[in-house]
Amino acid sequence: MAPIPGSGLAKGLAVTLRTMTKKSVTAQYPDTQPDLPPRTRGVIGLFEENCTVCMLCARECPDWCIYIDSHKETVPAATPGGRERSRNVLDRFAIDFSLCMYCGICIEVCPFDALFWSPEFEYAETDIRELTHERDKLREWMWTVPAPPALDPGAEEPKELATARKTADKLAAQQAPPVTEPHADEQARAAEQPTRPQGDSKQQTDQPQPGQEGQG
Ligand code: SF4
Ligand code: SF4
Repeated sequence: MAPIPGSGLAKGLAVTLRTMTKKSVTAQYPDTQPDLPPRTRGVIGLFEENCTVCMLCARECPDWCIYIDSHKETVPAATPGGRERSRNVLDRFAIDFSLCMYCGICIEVCPFDALFWSPEFEYAETDIRELTHERDKLREWMWTVPAPPALDPGAEEPKELATARKTADKLAAQQAPPVTEPHADEQARAAEQPTRPQGDSKQQTDQPQPGQEGQG
């Protein structure tokens, strides 16, 4: 059967009318910033203080795009007669984001919570070499890492927080001024003041009040 002349135009106009009344889902980036979920994989931040240069992340990275250099340093014994210790000192930590496939394995395997996802994604470069972020830049990304979600009500306090709180309490107790004994004069004055016998208030409440005698 031959198509009715003008039916294609009518169908097209019907689609146009339908979509005109729907809410637009296109975000006008960069004028409108996208509303990203908190666990977006944008870029990786390095919390250098936690890194022990264990090399696990570099070994597990499937793209071999984490570069770590370090050297060993001898730490003198903490107590007289104690043993010297050696520790790794980080010289270089870099991630090549032109190779990274954002799998997150490095973050999962880090045993010391030194790597974190940041939702930041605006770091496109015209020179591919600029996509290798050295430790200073990786550290700067840490400022954009969102805070972890709140714990469920009644959940156990994380070990790190409990330890940090105990240390802070101990430091505060050490820094607090010592409690001084009251001056001798004050002690003497306090001794002269008449004191209310113990249980006095109870006696008063137990005694019948005027007008209550004979009641009940
Ligand atoms: S996210 Fe994956 S590919 Fe990227 S640096 Fe980490 S382990 Fe390597
Ligand atoms: S796994 Fe963690 S602690 Fe070990 S080298 Fe990588 S970032 Fe540092």
